[in-house]
Formats: sequence, C-alpha cells, structure tokens
Amino acid sequence: MGVLRRRGGQAGTPDASSGEAGGLPLRPAGARNLVMVVLDSLRYDSWTEAEPSTLASLGQLERRWSYASWTAPSHYNLLMGLLPHSSPAEVFASEYYKRDFARYSERLGIEGIEFRKFLPSIFLPTFLRHTLGYSTHAMVSMPVLNPHTAINRDFDSYRLMPRHNDMAAMVDELEFDDAHPSFYLLNVGETHYPYALPDEDPSRWPRISGVHGVFRHLDEDPDPEGGGAREFFDQVQLTELQGRQVRAVSYLDSVFARLFDRLPSNTWVIVTSDHGELFGEDRYFGHGPISHPKVLEVPFVEGLVP
Ligand SMILES: [Zn+2]
Repeated sequence: MGVLRRRGGQAGTPDASSGEAGGLPLRPAGARNLVMVVLDSLRYDSWTEAEPSTLASLGQLERRWSYASWTAPSHYNLLMGLLPHSSPAEVFASEYYKRDFARYSERLGIEGIEFRKFLPSIFLPTFLRHTLGYSTHAMVSMPVLNPHTAINRDFDSYRLMPRHNDMAAMVDELEFDDAHPSFYLLNVGETHYPYALPDEDPSRWPRISGVHGVFRHLDEDPDPEGGGAREFFDQVQLTELQGRQVRAVSYLDSVFARLFDRLPSNTWVIVTSDHGELFGEDRYFGHGPISHPKVLEVPFVEGLVP
C-alpha cells in the first residue's frame, strides 16, 4: 500500500482541512502508532516481584493508581485518554487532566494536542479516528468488555478474543499500514484470576469455591455457636494465587518480546493495569466492590518501542 500524502498543513500538526482517504483524514506527518496494553487485574507488586526484563526496556516503571476498582469503568476511563494517575498532592484535578492530555503530543508525535481537542466526546478512539485519521482496533479478553458494550465506539475493529488468556494470539493478529497510523487497545487476561497461562489445563486451575477452595464455609451458617470468626480465607492458597500472577507476568514478558519485535519503530507503547487485586489483605480477595488502596495500585510504563 502506498503512502498517502496530505496537502498543506505543517509537518507534525493536525490539520482538519486536509483531504481524506478511505473516509478517514490523512495521517498527520510523523504520527506514531499507539498501542495500549492493559494487563487485567495486575498489582504493582506482582510486576516488581517478577522483574520483567523486556518490559523494563520500554521505560521507567511507575507506581500509579487506577481511577476505578474494576474492569468496565476503568477501561472507559482509559479510553477517555486518562491513564492511571500519579496522585500528586496540592494539584487541582483539572490541571492534572490538562497535563495528562498534553502528553499525547509526545505519545503520538504530533504537536499541539491538548484537552480541548478531545472535545466534545472526550473519547480517545473518536479523537484518533476522526481528527487524526488513525485506524482504531481493540482486542479484549474480558467478556465484560465485549463488542456490544458502550465502549465499542469509533473502533474500526473490536474483538472479544476466543480465549481469555492468550496475549500471544493478539500479537499474531496485529496489522499496521503505511496509509494511517494505528491505535490498538489490548486487554490481556493472563494476569486476571485464575492467573492461568494459555498452555495450562483448565482442570488444574485453582478454584475459589467449595470447602477446599480459597473461600471456605460460604454455604454454612455463620458461626452458630457465636464464638470466634469463621474462616473465610486460606491465606496459604491466596499467597499461591499471587505467585501465579507473578508467574503470569514472567511469562508475558516473553510475549512482550514478540510484540516489540512486531511493532513498527514509530510506535508508542503504554503498559498498565485497569485495577489491582487483593490477596487476603484486610480480609479481601479480588477486586470490584472493594475500597482498599491495593485495588487501585497499578504498574505503569510507557515509551517508544525498544
Ligand atoms: Zn479488570
């Protein structure tokens, strides 16, 4: 496919007056591909314990905080363009948002991006597709993000993957072309409960229900004798579950090596999580209806593909 050239406009500056190709604006000169990888449910300290070397080559790991404690609202927030925040003190929210949106100039390699350019939709795929001429794609692992949900808006393609835990299958299907820069959202499930690698036999996955599971005595009368707290967690098994999440990060690091090999050099990559996960702290497990710092604490790294 030939490279389409826009008429007029300054290099690196979006120009809404440019001609269109295939119904889309032409790409601004120098525009980078953008790949946002969301490792579902991944805690910050599971990442640091795994010490993933390929991911370390992307940039400096930061500890950040998600705006939401579970998958759907968190992905909506990410697709607004607002990435997990750094929780700065003595800063007005509106100032922080403004600075975060301005970061897209560097991410996309396009000068002059600011919050008001995202208006009125305040939706990253809409902005990328209609203002900048990107092709926009999502591959998701979690059924709660399926293509019928409201966040499937202004994507050229949007797929719920056949398996919930196979990032490698996503890497195989990435496509880039010369005519338009691409945006990909990849929602990755290996780090989500049950923290299973794609080659693991589902019959060997851990179970969270039943008396031999992590959750115990859920179907029993709570403490009929009135003495002592009933046992809810098996902390040994919960520690093992976090070990499985750490192992998932180590495995995914090898998939990131394949991803980085496949991406064109002018691609900006963001890797983060949509929320954390509780492994027994203060008697919580998982994520969602939980108000606890660990459910918001997430890893964040970004940079040009190494
Ligand atoms: Zn999630």
